[in-house]
Amino acid sequence: MANHNLKTGDHLSPKSILIWRIVQTLVWLVGVLIIFNLIFYPTLGIHLFWNILIPIAPLLLVVATGLWRNICPMASTALFPRHMGLSKRKKLTLAEIGKLNLIAIIALFVLVPLRHAIFNLDGWATAWLILSLGFIAVIVGLRYEWKSAWCSGLCPVHPVEKLYGLKNKLRLPNAHCDQCHRCLALCPDKTPGIHPLSSKKTTSHKIAGFLTVGAFPGFVWGWFQVPDYSGIIGISELITIYKFPLLGLLVTSALFLVLKRFLKDKTLIAIFSAAAVSCYYWFRLPALFGWGLFPGDGMLVDLTGVLPEWVITVLVVVITFFFFWWIVFSRQGKISWVIRPAYALEGVNFGKNMYNKDNE
Ligand code: SF4
Repeated sequence: MANHNLKTGDHLSPKSILIWRIVQTLVWLVGVLIIFNLIFYPTLGIHLFWNILIPIAPLLLVVATGLWRNICPMASTALFPRHMGLSKRKKLTLAEIGKLNLIAIIALFVLVPLRHAIFNLDGWATAWLILSLGFIAVIVGLRYEWKSAWCSGLCPVHPVEKLYGLKNKLRLPNAHCDQCHRCLALCPDKTPGIHPLSSKKTTSHKIAGFLTVGAFPGFVWGWFQVPDYSGIIGISELITIYKFPLLGLLVTSALFLVLKRFLKDKTLIAIFSAAAVSCYYWFRLPALFGWGLFPGDGMLVDLTGVLPEWVITVLVVVITFFFFWWIVFSRQGKISWVIRPAYALEGVNFGKNMYNKDNE
């Protein structure tokens, strides 16, 4: 599906579109299968979602952000009304996009700790979470143009895409937007080198960007310091599940503000990005295979009796080196997450407060 000859503004051939639609449909059906299992076979559903799909996602966001943007089942759901010609195709103002980005990162910080208390152990609750997000995605997709409101706005995974997808090395087409209607002032899909602090146009953009870069690594560290709880959740458990992520978030936010005085923005963002994703796998890989801080929590398969512990330690160290090399030290290419399709003939039709400069 990668097309190395594709240039910015090129249209996809009918054959390429067909292949992408088939792949998107298959991945979407995998999503449906996971929801089915979460509801009817919760143990299997939880393994498929929380212990297989979600642990793969950060790696995919680092090395192939555009591929994920093209095949994400939630994106396919959100964009279905647009593909079917049912969307009102409204354009968001810059201020509205900033607010959606801020809501997305706050939603991430609120929802993820709830995994310990609810979602990690409850297939039904996880299914309802996914379905609720899917419902919101379709509602905004029915109203707003292409990826503006969900995929680049409200989706709680989008801030992480922006933080991890700093170094893109794959040339992939945009498998959703058939033409570019310039629905976003700074479209993350078509802007090479996009990062969470790229847009500082409004206060919401600035806060969202700061939280994504500065707060997220500490939040990830804090999340892994909390065990899963089963049974009825009281206030004290809720404090416990938020306490460490909040503490971590405050510490790295302060560190970010201090380091900002000495390092260039791009270098600092890259270091925080690599630190966040490395921290995730530092804890998550051992937990998946039985060596977690809280034995049994988030375990896919117990390999403790099969492999010596140093194997997993070596794996974690190697993957940490890889992330720092890829994100911090490897060359910054001029490739955006996906290649911009041709502009629609309607031309420049910006909303009132939109940023009027082509961002490529
Ligand atoms: S590529 Fe163009 S149409 Fe698609 S989301 Fe970006 S700005 Fe909107």
